Amino acid sequence: MTQNLIHRNRGLCFVLIILYVLVFCFPRRLSARNQPEEYTTNATQTIKVSNATRHDFSRLIDVQLGSHVSGVSELKRYLHRFGYVKDYGTDGSKNFSDVFDGHLQSAISLYQQNLGLPITGRLDTSTVTLMSSPRCGVSDTHMINNNSLHTTARYTYFGDEPKWNSDRLTYAFSKTHKLDYLTSDEVKAAFRRAFGHWASVIPVSFEEVEDYTTANLKIGFFVGDHDDELPFDGVLGTLAHAFAPKNGQVHFDAAETWVVNGDFGSKVAVDLESVATHEIGHLLGLGHSSHKLAVMYPTIRPRTKKVDLAVDDVAGILKLYGANPKLRLDSLTELKDSLNGGVSGRFLSGNVIGYALLVVLILLL
Ligand SMILES: [Zn+2]
Ligand SMILES: [Zn+2]
Repeated sequence: MTQNLIHRNRGLCFVLIILYVLVFCFPRRLSARNQPEEYTTNATQTIKVSNATRHDFSRLIDVQLGSHVSGVSELKRYLHRFGYVKDYGTDGSKNFSDVFDGHLQSAISLYQQNLGLPITGRLDTSTVTLMSSPRCGVSDTHMINNNSLHTTARYTYFGDEPKWNSDRLTYAFSKTHKLDYLTSDEVKAAFRRAFGHWASVIPVSFEEVEDYTTANLKIGFFVGDHDDELPFDGVLGTLAHAFAPKNGQVHFDAAETWVVNGDFGSKVAVDLESVATHEIGHLLGLGHSSHKLAVMYPTIRPRTKKVDLAVDDVAGILKLYGANPKLRLDSLTELKDSLNGGVSGRFLSGNVIGYALLVVLILLL
């Protein structure tokens, strides 16, 4: 009787494993279009600090189609900046009007789709709140037109799915573009942890080197316009941006109040490890995810720590690089933590099949 039960359970386990492999090894290929442009940066930074802080669109809540309200033009510029509006106006200029027109309604619907919100085309509170939140400066164009709504996968890639073809990547910090209110050791430790999140799931190691010019991945903190056509905008707003493989550049807005030790005393404090983990995802080839729990979701609230990779992040990066041989054990550790009431169960959140597989693996061990 006991033997029969074991055999039956093993059969069930086998079926679950096959299901898992089918879902994760052959996810729907998500379309992705525009890849950030390559560029060269000057050795000398042009400092133009914008007076703007974060975008605050709260006065636009419930503005109706057809109405003319001051601030709508700013919203159109915001949506244009992140890839939701191509050209505006008959002359293709960027002179946006304050009229809530049909183009804006379509752009709002697309934004809601990409950010995992109910698609209403209206400026409801949740949409406006998200648009007012700090976010990554990488455009969402690679998310647009993906047909993944009926699948569980929400991750995306850039253009032709560029990736690194090496199992060892070097990274270095700019010696000129750096923060003056955190120590070098504090910044380096935050990045070591951020790289570690990705290294624990893929067979790629990250090694810090001194030479910024020859490192694969180049990390710097910049203010305002820094010659890559993606100027930073002061406190909050856009926090950082990175470029797809094999560009290797990642820039952080030096105007932010970056914190490395969980000291969220300031209302505008932003956790460096969290944003670094997100940007490293871009450096490795991931685009934005519409899954709110994913590290690759475009926005993050101030005073928030979000460093644990979600199943969606892991599924996306595994498809590009394959799995780290230690991945299974790490996952099991996280599962045990979550079962014990720990806080590191995010890897499993929202994915029943992944959860079932790990339970099965525990039973087999
Ligand atoms: Zn991003
Ligand atoms: Zn930049």
